[in-house]
Amino acid sequence: MIGNSPARRRTLLAAAAGLVVAPWAAGTAHAAVPKVYLDPGHGGTDSGAVGNGLTEKALTLAIALQTRDILKASWNVDVRMSRTSDVTRSLTYRTDDANAWGATIFVSIHINAGGGTGFESYRYPGTTGNTAALHSAVHSRVLSGMRSVGSVTDRGLKTANFHVLRETAMPAVLTENLFIDTVADANLLKNAAFITATARGHANGIVSYLGL
Ligand SMILES: [Zn+2]
Repeated sequence: MIGNSPARRRTLLAAAAGLVVAPWAAGTAHAAVPKVYLDPGHGGTDSGAVGNGLTEKALTLAIALQTRDILKASWNVDVRMSRTSDVTRSLTYRTDDANAWGATIFVSIHINAGGGTGFESYRYPGTTGNTAALHSAVHSRVLSGMRSVGSVTDRGLKTANFHVLRETAMPAVLTENLFIDTVADANLLKNAAFITATARGHANGIVSYLGL
């Protein structure tokens, strides 16, 4: 874990001196505590994709809960989640909740299906700037986290007109963490160390983007 490394202390001192402002905080008078919104896909009556004895809704919740715990253990961030248990949440609930809370960033976590293999991630079409920076930071850290445990294909950074990317009022990214209906991918998703590495990758990407 990174913790309070010398580099982090230097960053904090510089920020306190007004020398460094993270991109997301540009224009604000003081460095506020960033508000990270985590959105585990599906839940409750919506299982999401299923395959190889796995359900998407359980995997997304496991990854999101661990991402939250890693963030809270090591960084000064506020974390809110669209759900912390197996309950049904509409897409509108998720984006309304994040917008009302005033989230700094929105990270939606999903598992893919359809017979492919590997990791891919999405932002809204045409977005640049902070959204593209968040996308790049999360994509690269998640991929390297996954690859610390197993062999994972990089399917790339993509764009899509998804509700949670379109209706969020802050930089938003959606990750598709392997294919539940592909045996090799499912075997990684059944590995607790892989789930933890995937969560750590999300946390690392988030704190990298936030400049923490
Ligand atoms: Zn999904």
